[in-house]
Amino acid sequence: MKRCAIALATAFLVAAMMPASRAQAPPGQPGQTNAPAGRGQGRGGRGGPAAPITVRAARVLDGRGGTLENGVIEVTGSKITGIDQRTGPVTYDLGANTILPGMIDVHVHLNWYFGPGGKYGERDVPAGYQMDAVIDNARKTLMAGFTTVQSLGWAGDKPLKAAIAEGVVPGPRLITSLAQIQPGSQTPDQLRDRVRQLKAQGADVVKLFASGSIRDGGKITVTQEQMDAACGEAKAQGLRTLVHAHGPDSIIVSVKAGCSQIEHGAYADDAAIKAMKDANVYFDPNIGLVLQNYIEHKDQYMGSGNFNADGFAFMEKAVPTMGPQFNKALKAGLRMPMGTDAVAGAHGQNAREAIARVQQGGQKPMDAIIGATSLGAESMNLGNEIGTLKTGYEADIVAVAGNPAQDITKLRDVIFVMKGGRVFSKK
Ligand SMILES: [Zn+2]
Repeated sequence: MKRCAIALATAFLVAAMMPASRAQAPPGQPGQTNAPAGRGQGRGGRGGPAAPITVRAARVLDGRGGTLENGVIEVTGSKITGIDQRTGPVTYDLGANTILPGMIDVHVHLNWYFGPGGKYGERDVPAGYQMDAVIDNARKTLMAGFTTVQSLGWAGDKPLKAAIAEGVVPGPRLITSLAQIQPGSQTPDQLRDRVRQLKAQGADVVKLFASGSIRDGGKITVTQEQMDAACGEAKAQGLRTLVHAHGPDSIIVSVKAGCSQIEHGAYADDAAIKAMKDANVYFDPNIGLVLQNYIEHKDQYMGSGNFNADGFAFMEKAVPTMGPQFNKALKAGLRMPMGTDAVAGAHGQNAREAIARVQQGGQKPMDAIIGATSLGAESMNLGNEIGTLKTGYEADIVAVAGNPAQDITKLRDVIFVMKGGRVFSKK
């Protein structure tokens, strides 16, 4: 596993050094810019400030619940420099459709893919195949309107993040934990060391496991002392902590340790929900994509690790409980940024999570949109930079067909993607 990560990291570094044209998607695939804005445009161009570009649509959702009819967004370089209702010609007129902030998924795994044989977890997959698969995952995610994702976590994210930021690989902004900590039998001191190491390596966030996988029943796997050490040290280092926790005891131990956010929580009961509410932690239940995707790709996952008959039985049993579970957390007033836990087969379908929150979880469409934009940004301490359409923010702007505030399924019909002032697609 470690060798693969290193090979991939090397491959990405090589890719990062190639000219931009070399690393673009193969011909015939959507996703490449057809905008007048060139590569340098997002940074103010070469040899002088870039001319502003303007985008208009029938409605602009600001990501915080506000709507502007017939709104125009002005972008200069990589930033939003105006939002108004000016008339006259614009660079992109998106007609009767809806502009919203680039969406944010706070939990993905871009390094999960199906191998050359079509299965997950194949051995000895050539580095070039892995690199192409990961790049394809990044591109699909961006083209689905997700301009920022939090990856939890993989060492190869570091060069991938650099290649995306450089504009070599089309993909979302990447926030990464670089690794996942399984406390196991580690002592509190060892855990504190590990957190400091990750900080030194450039991790943006720490990912920890406090319970087993849902395929193993999701039982607690840590002690209070371990979680106190890991989350306490992360806080001292200025890092957020996201904890994989399914059952009530693993959630409560994490909350007591001062961890920042709980992932999954498939078996959270009233006490666990109350503990999260009292501590005001973020909760990211993944109700709409990850388990459904495993089941949809059962043959491709079956046989790898705990993807066995028992594992699938746990997942199939959990799926119908997720909507009501989300609704309980919603009624309790938990802050729930949208995360999917997107894995192989799921990349680019991220908006299914927001749709499930509305259709199965009883959330209002506008609140689901907020969960996938400004609340996601806030949960990553980026609430003043992305996730909202406002002057001074990054120009991460997407448009979808129709009006997603009325019909949430429209979030999957993305017609325009701009990230940091650079246009990646326009239907
Ligand atoms: Zn995950």
